Amino acid sequence: MRIPVFLPHIGIETAKAAVDALELGWLGMGSYVGEFETRLAEYLELRGRQVVAVNTGTSALHLAMLVAGVRPGDEVLTPSFNNIGDIQAIKAAGAEPVFCDIDEGTLGIDVEKAEPLVSPRTKAVIGMDYDGIPCALEALEAMAERHGIVVIHDAAHSLGTRVNGRTMGNFGDITVFSFDPVKLITCIDGGALVVDSEEKVAALHRYRLLGMDQSAERMYANNRAWTYDVADQGFRYHLANLHAAIGLTQLARIDEFIASRVRACRHYNTVLADVEGVITPQTNFDDVAPFLYYIRVLDGHRDALIDALKAAGVDTGIHWIPGHRFTFMQNARRGDLSVTNRVGSEILTLPLHSFMDLETVDQVANAVRIALPALRRSAAA
Ligand SMILES: *Cc1c(COP(=O)(O)O)cnc(C)c1O
Repeated sequence: MRIPVFLPHIGIETAKAAVDALELGWLGMGSYVGEFETRLAEYLELRGRQVVAVNTGTSALHLAMLVAGVRPGDEVLTPSFNNIGDIQAIKAAGAEPVFCDIDEGTLGIDVEKAEPLVSPRTKAVIGMDYDGIPCALEALEAMAERHGIVVIHDAAHSLGTRVNGRTMGNFGDITVFSFDPVKLITCIDGGALVVDSEEKVAALHRYRLLGMDQSAERMYANNRAWTYDVADQGFRYHLANLHAAIGLTQLARIDEFIASRVRACRHYNTVLADVEGVITPQTNFDDVAPFLYYIRVLDGHRDALIDALKAAGVDTGIHWIPGHRFTFMQNARRGDLSVTNRVGSEILTLPLHSFMDLETVDQVANAVRIALPALRRSAAA
């Protein structure tokens, strides 16, 4: 049996909620979307901030750029080691990404190396928490404040993580989440923003609904007005009821999902600790809600290990190919990217699922323990 990298958990409660939402007779944005926003805000223990749901994490990032005031000709700092959606969102706003390096320990933004890249055109900086392990969020906030730029916190991997008791959604200026098919919780596709003012909420309500100033309250009553104004550019980025209904059932079980993933990640860390040529995550996952489990494969053996694991029935992934390597971004301004380049050729995602049993973790770890020494021996010979 092949072991997949991701395996979304779709329980009977999710399937039932989807059927209920289909039978409601209101398929567009409606009551479930309002409820999903309310439940997510409660889960995040937001302090004076609000949630706006949209149809994907990438849409959320695009709208984050717009409410951050990012306009054509501006620059946005981002780690090159990031999801391509972040970089496309910068481009969609007409701005240019400026690539900075990552910190070897967290694999999140290296704030000290990023700061000298700030220019008069810089409008915002993206901090992203790789694998749910928080990047240097407090240092990032301080750096952004020194330069008067906006912190967009991409917490697509870190829903459920805490830093000194503070939940994600309470850092930076704008937070973005994704509920795509493989994320910790899924809406099949979905996303959300957390913002700190009524004006931003109102702007997001218009942006996500083709610029229409429809009252969200009315939409959430499964109703709509046929008089509205359109005063600005808008997009079709709203979340549909079906997706919100699915997300609600997933959110209800998030603590179980996280606990089971933490257990699997700790077991991986233990059984892979002594494997030569492997670096495991430098955390024991306290307060971390893991999205994936990664290792770094040293000495150029990553790609051969992918093939060997595939032959052993273990699927793997690469998160990510650094952004500056893509044709579309080849001319983007950048700082020193030495850690990104090294990590980008070493990083390997191993299978991690909610409720993954420890025997399956052992099976994957054993495949690594058998394949990697053989590759290292034949390279040394
Ligand atoms: C998944 C992800 C995104 C994009 O979200 P989608 O919902 O897939 O559009 C952005 N950033 C990070 C870090 C992600 O993991």
